[in-house]
Amino acid sequence: MTLSNNKYGISLESEEFNSLKTFEELGLNPWLIDALKAMSIKFPSAIQRACIPPILKGKDCIGGAKTGSGKTAAFALPILQKLSEDPFGVFALVLTPTRELAFQIADQFRVLGKSINLKECVVVGGLDMMSQSLQLSRKPHVVIATPGRLVDHINSSAIAPCLSRIRFLVLDEADRLLSDTFAEDLATIFDTIPKKRQTLLFTATMTESILQLQDVQEDPGKKPFVYQMKSDISTVSTLSQFYVFIPSHIREPYLTHLLRSEELTNKSTIIFCGRCRTAELLRVMLVELDIRCTSLHSTMSQKERLNSLGKFKAEIVRVLIATDVGSRGLDIPTVQLVINFDIPRDPTDYIHRVGRTARAGRGGIALSIVTERDIELVQNIETRINKKMEEWKINENKVLESLNEISTAKRVATMHLHDTNFGASKEIQKKKHSILGTESTKNVISKKKFKKK
Ligand code: AMP
Repeated sequence: MTLSNNKYGISLESEEFNSLKTFEELGLNPWLIDALKAMSIKFPSAIQRACIPPILKGKDCIGGAKTGSGKTAAFALPILQKLSEDPFGVFALVLTPTRELAFQIADQFRVLGKSINLKECVVVGGLDMMSQSLQLSRKPHVVIATPGRLVDHINSSAIAPCLSRIRFLVLDEADRLLSDTFAEDLATIFDTIPKKRQTLLFTATMTESILQLQDVQEDPGKKPFVYQMKSDISTVSTLSQFYVFIPSHIREPYLTHLLRSEELTNKSTIIFCGRCRTAELLRVMLVELDIRCTSLHSTMSQKERLNSLGKFKAEIVRVLIATDVGSRGLDIPTVQLVINFDIPRDPTDYIHRVGRTARAGRGGIALSIVTERDIELVQNIETRINKKMEEWKINENKVLESLNEISTAKRVATMHLHDTNFGASKEIQKKKHSILGTESTKNVISKKKFKKK
């Protein structure tokens, strides 16, 4: 293993899956190695090689690595090993920003922990509180939660004592979790769990503020182990990144053309857009054009979100249209193409979106639809990823041939959204919040709480 240190004392390594080191050498027990074999995982990835030994030794850990590099197993494996030595519930709490990610993490824990009869429990919003309370009362070994719903349980039921003994706290997608949005909820959770515990922070996009957390601990013996994959480029080398430059008013015909084109027509694809309304409009329009697809956004109920994701994962439909609720961490190895229908304002979101393809050493394509309004955004992204996108060549005449068909489908979709009063309940919620001033009050409270800490 080639480790070196930079100014943060961070271990550096360049390749993700290039090691001949074994899981055994990292200190993992045979039953875990068998579980990995059953998943066809033979050699540890870089983040696993770096983080598993210090976590097993009881160190806190801050881990940064490109998305798809085996982060989940890097924390799940040592937690499971420690749990098997002293099993009780609740042993570990894993926090993650999105509900879908919580289910995904739970899946990995379940598969890896099968032989020790692991009991895990997912606690996320949008699903029945009662059945979650019941599961929590059975003291699962690992709780995987989104912060808001966990706080609902802390406030409304007798779950706090179950959390008072946890040995591990994991913050997955830590950069997002440590943003203002979750500050108030995290403060409540930190007040509930024991101070003496191992804390593991993982993120695909390392920030200065996360790195500074290591300085909070003054005792050098208690400083966290920090690992960051060495790379000037924050997207993987197996990802090919392209753009098409077109006028903004004809994005839908170009999108349809791309999805029907010979090179891309069979590819499992996620289309990202900025708003729920756009995602739904595109879904109805593409269905109208006989392109089987499904969607994932926050206007849908949690059941609909899980069903939709299930259909896409099972390859019943090949196109998923998502907002940024689907941009982080989702691990669907079959995804071959990511299309950015809208260019994200924040380059970090771009990195997360395109990270849905080219996972665990596989190839993938990212294609961004760029209009006259997006030039600066794309330049910012290219600076951030330290890479220039290439132009994806399109035969314009072919696109124009289908203009009428597509504008008809778009009209049908617009009418459908109008007739079904799309987004009305969300608007009512928003108005309620602005009347009560909930959002701003929440931020003020959260800032105060963190200052106090
Ligand atoms: P993650 O970064 O946790 O989202 O993991 C991405 C994918 O990599 C998952 O499908 C894992 O099953 C897979 N994976 C995890 N560890 C390894 C490994 N050591 N070798 C190959 N694939 C892995």
